Amino acid sequence: MLETHLQSRSIFRFQNLSKQNGVDHFVSTRIGGLSSPPYESLNLGFHVGDTAKIVLKNRERLAANIGISLSDFTIPRQVHSGTVTIVTEGMRGYGAADLDTAVEATDAIVTDVPHLCLMVLMADCVPILFFDPQKRVVGAAHAGWRGTVKLAAQKTAETLKEKFNCKLTDVLVGIGPSIGPCHYEVGPEVISQVEGTFGDTEGYINGEAPDGKGYFNLWEANKRQIIAAGIPRQNIEVAQICTYCNAHLFFSERHERGKTGRFGAGIMLSTSTDM
Ligand SMILES: [Zn+2]
Repeated sequence: MLETHLQSRSIFRFQNLSKQNGVDHFVSTRIGGLSSPPYESLNLGFHVGDTAKIVLKNRERLAANIGISLSDFTIPRQVHSGTVTIVTEGMRGYGAADLDTAVEATDAIVTDVPHLCLMVLMADCVPILFFDPQKRVVGAAHAGWRGTVKLAAQKTAETLKEKFNCKLTDVLVGIGPSIGPCHYEVGPEVISQVEGTFGDTEGYINGEAPDGKGYFNLWEANKRQIIAAGIPRQNIEVAQICTYCNAHLFFSERHERGKTGRFGAGIMLSTSTDM
């Protein structure tokens, strides 16, 4: 990923998506907002206990900073599911300025509507962005351990294929900053679900200890399921940025012991210049 500084606020972008025409995307950080501890400072989440008015100002700052109107954002109410929702023109602005209008109970959103920015929110969970330059479709998924074993990313890829007729060999993917295999210790109850879904723990769980705990590699688990869906390995960029290791830059629920803000990952079909 590449970091850019826009008016002293950091924005990360994937290199593979940055090279494409007709798509805008970003991963925000915790820097440059107005929220007080434990949400300091660019908290984008209405649902974490921060003051709503300040969260709205933070979102407006981010939107202005990246040059997309906040009313063009669509944001889901994330529930750690494997549900994929198709966003239509009528859902433009859902969840942008409040929690009540957020797209109901879904962790992955897909659209072919131009100039509509899909955004998911994280603090250790994995943001995954999708772009098909041929069919001109974008997707954004949020996957913690539950979303990962519920195959949210794989189902997003399948939705691109089944509902939008995308050739998955055309689709580019960015797997963004999240808690890394260096810090994501999980217990036997999670490990057994990993084994249940993937049939194996090899490459998914590292450093299994006698107490049954191990380190879950969310990046690898999401990359593998996207490849299994049919997206070529070389189309997938993994940021390899651990939010826990970089808790000064990103919100990390584990690092902050549960009470913290949310950063965002967004993607939008920009108005094509060659039309
Ligand atoms: Zn780490």
